[in-house]
Amino acid sequence: MENLNKNKKIIIICHCLINTNSKVYNFGIVKEDFEQRKKDLINLFINNNVGIIQLPCPELTCYGCNRWGHVKEQFDTPHFRKTCKNLLETYVDQIEDYIKNDFSILGVIGINGSPSCGVDKTCSGKWYGELSSNENLSNMLSSLTVVNEAGVFIEELISIFEIKNIKIPILGLDSMNINEIFKLFESTI
Ligand code: SF4
Repeated sequence: MENLNKNKKIIIICHCLINTNSKVYNFGIVKEDFEQRKKDLINLFINNNVGIIQLPCPELTCYGCNRWGHVKEQFDTPHFRKTCKNLLETYVDQIEDYIKNDFSILGVIGINGSPSCGVDKTCSGKWYGELSSNENLSNMLSSLTVVNEAGVFIEELISIFEIKNIKIPILGLDSMNINEIFKLFESTI
């Protein structure tokens, strides 16, 4: 007998969308509305029996809970890219098998602004060196800009998808577009 909970739809999400513990400590103000809307989005998938695949967090894996916030340039190293590729490998294997068995992968949801998981936006800047002895620290920190490109982890995912000819939309979530993304999935689930 067919399992009625198995609707053969799957969404792939970046790790911290359902585990904020993995994120860099944020000493600023938490945007409560955004946090609530993220829960609403996840509940939309749960309530419609969409399977959720949570990708691993590459930054937590490499640098742990007490890492500083970084810019993309600091993660753009051969080792970090290799680690991202290795972390993605088993998930891409699963995705290929789901596709082969006629599951519908609705998309990948990345986290805009992240140096790793950003899709359309990531953070860029000339950050380096010993913080405690940097007399120009505030100038260096203010070199931070948001640029319209993907983070390192998502770049590696895009590259694997291209090589394997996997066609799945990758959407970058942020506080500006979450309502739009919610509506998009609400109308397609
Ligand atoms: S690396 Fe990705 S999953 Fe990890 S905290 Fe940053 S955005 Fe979230």
